[in-house]
Amino acid sequence: MSILELLIEGEKVPAEGGRTFTRKNPLTGGVATEAAAASVEDAIRAADAAARAFPEWSNTGPAQRRGLLLAAADNLEACKADIAQAMAEELGATAAWAGFNVMLAAGMLREAAAMTTMIKGEIIPSNRPGSMAMAIRQPAGVVLSIAPWNAPVILGVRSIAMPLACGNTVVMKSSELSPRTHALIVEAMQGAGLPKGVLNVISNAPDDAGEIVEALIAHSAVRRVNFTGSTRVGRIIAKLAAENLKPALLELGGKAPMIVLEDADLDAAVAAAAFGAYMNQGQICMSTERLIVHEAIADAFVEKLAEKVRSLTVGDPRAGNTPLGCVVDKGAVDRIMGLVRDAEDKGARIMAGGHAEGVLMEATLIDNVTPSMRIYTEESFGPTASVVRVGSIDEAVRVANDTEYGLSASIFGRDTVRAMTVARRIESGICHINGPTVHDEAQMPFGGVKDSGYGRFGGTAAIEEFTTLRWITVQDGQPQYPI
Ligand code: NAD
Repeated sequence: MSILELLIEGEKVPAEGGRTFTRKNPLTGGVATEAAAASVEDAIRAADAAARAFPEWSNTGPAQRRGLLLAAADNLEACKADIAQAMAEELGATAAWAGFNVMLAAGMLREAAAMTTMIKGEIIPSNRPGSMAMAIRQPAGVVLSIAPWNAPVILGVRSIAMPLACGNTVVMKSSELSPRTHALIVEAMQGAGLPKGVLNVISNAPDDAGEIVEALIAHSAVRRVNFTGSTRVGRIIAKLAAENLKPALLELGGKAPMIVLEDADLDAAVAAAAFGAYMNQGQICMSTERLIVHEAIADAFVEKLAEKVRSLTVGDPRAGNTPLGCVVDKGAVDRIMGLVRDAEDKGARIMAGGHAEGVLMEATLIDNVTPSMRIYTEESFGPTASVVRVGSIDEAVRVANDTEYGLSASIFGRDTVRAMTVARRIESGICHINGPTVHDEAQMPFGGVKDSGYGRFGGTAAIEEFTTLRWITVQDGQPQYPI
């Protein structure tokens, strides 16, 4: 098996000292990928290369950047089969999830291409006679992009597409769990003809992540950081960014609630709950973790949903005939099963699933969940959903907000005006009425509140994240000075 190398200044290079690390196939235990394990010096070389490429890239016109991003989208779609294979081997992901990843990620590249002509400024009336004052947006510099494994193509592309579209150069730190999948994205970008040094990629051994990220955030050329991952690591990144006075965009964990009001279309709510909770085995930051159901319809809803959940079989993703594939590793399964057992011990009812064999875990539905159970609070990031029964809208809102997280939410109810008033009261960045909590579109302002992070990816919101707003004036040189 060939070793995945780093990409620095347009060249594929081994890590310092030829160090490598291994990502194992979660299902078979065999080697999925052998990748270069970058050192701090390698990371600094990547940032130096990005800094050298910045002056020229930041001066390119929008048409050039747009053309490259559009070509990269085509390239990404063309290597869909390789991506599906890499995702199956590195993550045990299903082909359906890989296909969705490629489709949305290609859309993100095309949306970023469209954004290249949307980086605008304004003329602001000046008090100084004869002065023209402008607010203009300019590329920020080198952007450090850190993406996780769970939706590797979507989140990998998201971390680099808008930074590049805005004229920045990038150092991407790939996930230790999906280095090959992330490398395929980079190949698609390079194949489009990105100039050398514009996009640099480092992979690293898991134990080295902390010192490499610290060195990169401290690097003088790095002007923006974007991180998608857990709230635990997000806090570390936030502190490092603050110490170095660098803005960070943080997309962190979630515990998405779906409120089912008593006037909801139950079939529609069941379909959305099943998709939202179990797609990609619940390993999506927007996954529906809590079903907050009005007691008037709770029995009917749970019965219908349990039947649906029992039909969501789990199996080897390479066979391609089950809706659920692997959980990312055995440690994650043990953690999730611990949450399920804790809930069961404290009086919850397992309505479907509740078992795991190795990394294959059944879709699990838990009813009568209460605040004393760990799963009420902790992000499961696995194929589980918890039902919390409530007696009123106020109680539903209180439970929905009774979490440190605030990424996505959803409400099902036929009275959409009433549902809208509920939506306004939910503390989350995203809320869908009569739609699942799992929903992403490239042009939307995507991001969370509370411990789910801050900043927004998507469309024009991302332009603000990845540019600097400057005040520039042109004056007549004849003002009256006081001294
Ligand atoms: P993670 O936080 O464990 O890892 C993410 C990255 O952090 C990795 O690249 C890792 O190398 C790096 N890292 C680890 N320790 C570090 C340290 N000490 N200092 C600096 N960097 C370090 O997250 P994960 O397990 O890969 O992803 C799952 C989490 O991501 C879940 O909580 C999920 O909700 C969240 N997520 C959020 C979004 C979103 O858009 N909000 C999307 C997907 C996933």
